[in-house]
Amino acid sequence: LWRFWGPLSALSKVYSQVLSAMASAERIFEILDSEPEVKDRANAKPMKTIQGEVVFENVAFRYEADKPDVLKNINLHIKPGQRVALVGPTGAGKSTIVNLLMRFYDTTGGRILIDGQEVKDVTLESLRRQMGIVLQDSFIFSGTIEENLRYGNEDASDEALRRAAENVRIDKFVSQFADGYQTQVEERGSKLSVGQRQLLAFGRVLLSDPRILILDEATSSVDTETEQHIQAALHTMLEGRTAFIIAHRLSTIRDADIILVVKDGQISEQGSHDDLMKQNGLYKKLYMTQFEMQQSLAMQTGA
Ligand code: ADP
Repeated sequence: LWRFWGPLSALSKVYSQVLSAMASAERIFEILDSEPEVKDRANAKPMKTIQGEVVFENVAFRYEADKPDVLKNINLHIKPGQRVALVGPTGAGKSTIVNLLMRFYDTTGGRILIDGQEVKDVTLESLRRQMGIVLQDSFIFSGTIEENLRYGNEDASDEALRRAAENVRIDKFVSQFADGYQTQVEERGSKLSVGQRQLLAFGRVLLSDPRILILDEATSSVDTETEQHIQAALHTMLEGRTAFIIAHRLSTIRDADIILVVKDGQISEQGSHDDLMKQNGLYKKLYMTQFEMQQSLAMQTGA
């Protein structure tokens, strides 16, 4: 039920576009091979510096003109700093919601506003530069660890870099490499574990300091110590940012300010964990079956 298939590739595509929008380094264009679906309007203005308020007004969307709507009548009002968990069956529309927020596609109905600015009216570069994204299989490119960290904020001071690395707890393992932050890593290389790649991606977010964060929470198993590091780093990373999390972990979902239960392209329930448990609807049903199973599994394995 919680497995991911199509969305991952869509999000990866978003991600490479975000990187292309954010960074100037040549290497990005080596990675990029996709033409953007949307372009700046002729009179597009840069988005003003945001706090991170997100509003969806009657948003509808379809990927193909001759197909039915994939999203219908989506209404959201997320305050700056709120943590939103998107849950629901595969194919329900969770990834599509974040795709629209990053303006990977344009809505076919309704509007999306960030701090009162309609996403359609601002330049893609200014929009995406103010958002961070972390995917399940955290994106690393060939280059040094430092270059990977600085991606999106190449002007960061050494002090800021060091602090970000400490905050995501990568300083210890990096210092064990002979070349430290100058160690070369590869896109699909094995020098870094899955958990370390994730932490590195978190560090990149901290350094670029976006007000809105999109997170596709990883489910891959890592050792207990790395898992603790990830949880602590996640906590630091989310603080003070509006976050949209395609959530898989029970704890993330329970801690969210707002849980969006997405079903058949609509938001069938929204509220906190306690609100939704009281409603006795789909969330409670999912919780009782999926989540409790997950929890008992986690307890058995100590994860
Ligand atoms: P979720 O993230 O909840 O698993 P998605 O937002 O990925 O769901 O998908 C919602 C619906 O849109 C699904 O029916 C899916 O098949 C369809 N869909 C997703 N991406 C595309 C695409 N690029 N082109 C056409 N249809 C798509």
